Amino acid sequence: MSDELGVTGTPAFVHGSPRDVAVIGAGMIGLSTAWFLQEAGAQVTVYERQHPGAGASWGNAGWLTPGLTAPLPEPAVLRYGLRAVLSSRSPVYLPLRADRDLWRFLLSFVFHSTARRWRRGMAAYVPLNERSLDAFDALAAGGVSTVTTPADPFLACFARERDSRGLLDELEQMGDAGQDVTFRPVTGQVLRSMEPVLSDRVAAAVQIFGQRYLNPPAFITSLADAVRARGGRILDSSEVTGLQPATTDVRVTGPSGQQHRHDAVVIATGAAFGELATPFGVRRPVQAGRGYSFSVPVERMPAGPLYFPTQRVACTPLGSRLRVAGMMEFRRPADELDPRRITAVVDAVRPLLNGVNLDDRRDEWVGSRPCTPDGLPLIGATAAPRVFVAGGHGMWGIVLGPVTGQLVAQAVLKGEVPAELTPFDPLR
Ligand SMILES: Cc1cc2nc3c(=O)[nH]c(=O)nc-3n(C[C@H](O)[C@H](O)[C@H](O)COP(=O)(O)OP(=O)(O)OC[C@H]3O[C@@H](n4cnc5c(N)ncnc54)[C@H](O)[C@@H]3O)c2cc1C
Repeated sequence: MSDELGVTGTPAFVHGSPRDVAVIGAGMIGLSTAWFLQEAGAQVTVYERQHPGAGASWGNAGWLTPGLTAPLPEPAVLRYGLRAVLSSRSPVYLPLRADRDLWRFLLSFVFHSTARRWRRGMAAYVPLNERSLDAFDALAAGGVSTVTTPADPFLACFARERDSRGLLDELEQMGDAGQDVTFRPVTGQVLRSMEPVLSDRVAAAVQIFGQRYLNPPAFITSLADAVRARGGRILDSSEVTGLQPATTDVRVTGPSGQQHRHDAVVIATGAAFGELATPFGVRRPVQAGRGYSFSVPVERMPAGPLYFPTQRVACTPLGSRLRVAGMMEFRRPADELDPRRITAVVDAVRPLLNGVNLDDRRDEWVGSRPCTPDGLPLIGATAAPRVFVAGGHGMWGIVLGPVTGQLVAQAVLKGEVPAELTPFDPLR
């Protein structure tokens, strides 16, 4: 442990800054926050309703792809989404009888789906994206043992060459916004020799350079181990039911009503964000965008992650099996897994892959992406002085987890929100 954040070189602690910090939620965001708080010398207690990785941070695709990390609301997604919800085989599912909160979220999402707002959001993401992989290297240098793997290659695959135009345009626009992203179109025999797992129904791909991926369960486990090894407490089965900020501390109420005092609190509860954050002036809703995944055996493992943008399916090598993930389902986080969504994912990718046994599925999983209507996370101070939040990362909470933890730790301990976080002000 050092007395500095290792980010800016300036000392973390100022007079009266918190030393005993509670983090609520042991997902990628909460655990990364805990680790970087420890890095600066703070004592941490992580309260977790179930166990580390109980939420979205377990069954996701594990992509560390700053080259794709952009706000979700944009005109093309909106057009696509409207078409998709009308089709029964769609990778987007919207219940016919959406409740008031979901309608509020969707209307706001539509409002934010303009090219101008996307450009503004993208410009906000750029400084985070730039630092995102370095933050993983900081974790590795500090003893988090599960490695990240270079995505060599990372391929976004299409049935027809003209279908890749939308992604190529988006990547160009990301570049215009300042994102460092290098890519090249690949077709025909070159593509097939690069990745024999792709069937002859895949005619074109876009190769994106400089990306990585990880094994989400292994990574979350080693991050939790690292937090414990540095003296942090992770309290499983400890749902926080209330927070009461006072002049010199914050009282955290546990499952049976008992209260614990801490100098400051960071709420990192994923799709359940609103339950604890709303009373502290965080008005922006966080909606569960549920995704599904499962693992399958392959005759030959792809050399790197495969993305099928039209089908909205992600495939990632995970140990000896291939993880297949997809779907955006707007239902409550606690609802049961719906096997029809798994079937939709299987049907979507079956024609596109060779030598993959999609019927021998294991680890079928559903989890909730914490989505905000403007596609930007909520990171920083709330209206209550000792209460901070970090969440709402939607599709990108794994790649942005460590850099978020780094920056929010700085905000908590120095009492100053770093400039990179200004667009993500939770009180916006
Ligand atoms: C199918 C799928 C694929 C994805 N692929 C990628 C990808 O490739 N790359 C990427 O960057 N992102 C990806 N994501 C998104 C990513 O998984 C999420 O953005 C990220 O995991 C969110 O992390 P989190 O820590 O905010 O939330 P979670 O991981 O959901 O953690 C929140 C934790 O808080 C706990 N909690 C909730 N309420 C309380 C309470 N009151 N008291 C105590 N504990 C509480 C929960 O039990 C949970 O453990 C994907 C998501 C899905 C669903």
